[in-house]
Amino acid sequence: MTSTPKLAVLAVGGNALILDEKHKTVQDQYAAVVECMDHVVALMRDGWNVVVTHGNGPQVGFILRRSELSRHELHEVPLDSCGADTQGAIGYLFQKALVNAFKKAGMDRQAVTVVTQVEVDANDPAFKKPTKPIGSFMPEADARVKMEKEGWTMVEDAGRGWRRVVASPLPKRIVERDAILTLIDHGFTVIAVGGGGIPVVQNAAGELNGVEAVIDKDFGGALLAASLPVDLFIIATAVEKAAINFRKPNERWLDVITVDEARKFQSEGHFAAGSMGPKIEAAISFVSRTGKPAVITNLESLNQAVAGKSGTRVVANPK
Ligand code: ADP
Ligand code: MG
Repeated sequence: MTSTPKLAVLAVGGNALILDEKHKTVQDQYAAVVECMDHVVALMRDGWNVVVTHGNGPQVGFILRRSELSRHELHEVPLDSCGADTQGAIGYLFQKALVNAFKKAGMDRQAVTVVTQVEVDANDPAFKKPTKPIGSFMPEADARVKMEKEGWTMVEDAGRGWRRVVASPLPKRIVERDAILTLIDHGFTVIAVGGGGIPVVQNAAGELNGVEAVIDKDFGGALLAASLPVDLFIIATAVEKAAINFRKPNERWLDVITVDEARKFQSEGHFAAGSMGPKIEAAISFVSRTGKPAVITNLESLNQAVAGKSGTRVVANPK
């Protein structure tokens, strides 16, 4: 290739790995990853360098459940450690699928996963009001013990029982950013900031400590994209486009919207909190910081979306 390839960050949603309730095993996840990586390799053949990031919500749930079931025998796994475990395990699936796809395509490349810490602010307001449900439901008596002994925050969920909630602070800094950029510059295909990154806080002495929190993977992806010389931030999810009046008779799928239009639709409540909402916010954050576009689409439409022929593209406001 003569021209320098353009660089994209691709954030892959959790649903891209766990297709449905019946396909949750590691083998099932690998099959989904193989399909996903075929799209990535197609993009690379179109002249793109791609940095991949991914969700880990279901996989962290599996680890916590195993931890709960074996509590009588084994220690529990702290949340930052769950983040590291899933970054490694999911990263391995991506690496294996990429290496195989490169071989099939006759491309001389290697993929590498970076276990990534992401700094959050210890004073982030999210720590005062944890909202992200994690782990299984439990009876009130057990929940009281957890609150007292472990200092967990627990909430009652409309008759289904009690569940732990943790903070979801905003990502501030990617600790391994320079390592990621060096790998990209040397031609590696990098998988990083899995699950939004392992949340760490820095103390007065400059030391890092893991925290019992989770970072939204859409926000982690936006920070990754904004921290690198990226031309396009791609958010791959279950829908081809975002819509206003979603699932209503007057539903309208969006093609290209400016940051201001995205903010307006967001404030009007068109994008559900916890699903499309964070993606739109992540796109706004990336585009307003870099002036470069972001696109939200599904894996099937990835190549079309990169070419501007599908997906919902969020672009900078006209000057
Ligand atoms: P991911 O695992 O990729 O993060 P999510 O389930 O969190 O996926 O978010 C994607 C989902 O958001 C879509 O499958 C869709 O059902 C839902 N959604 C909510 N509001 C909208 C909207 N306005 N337009 C399109 N999809 C929306
Ligand atoms: Mg999501």
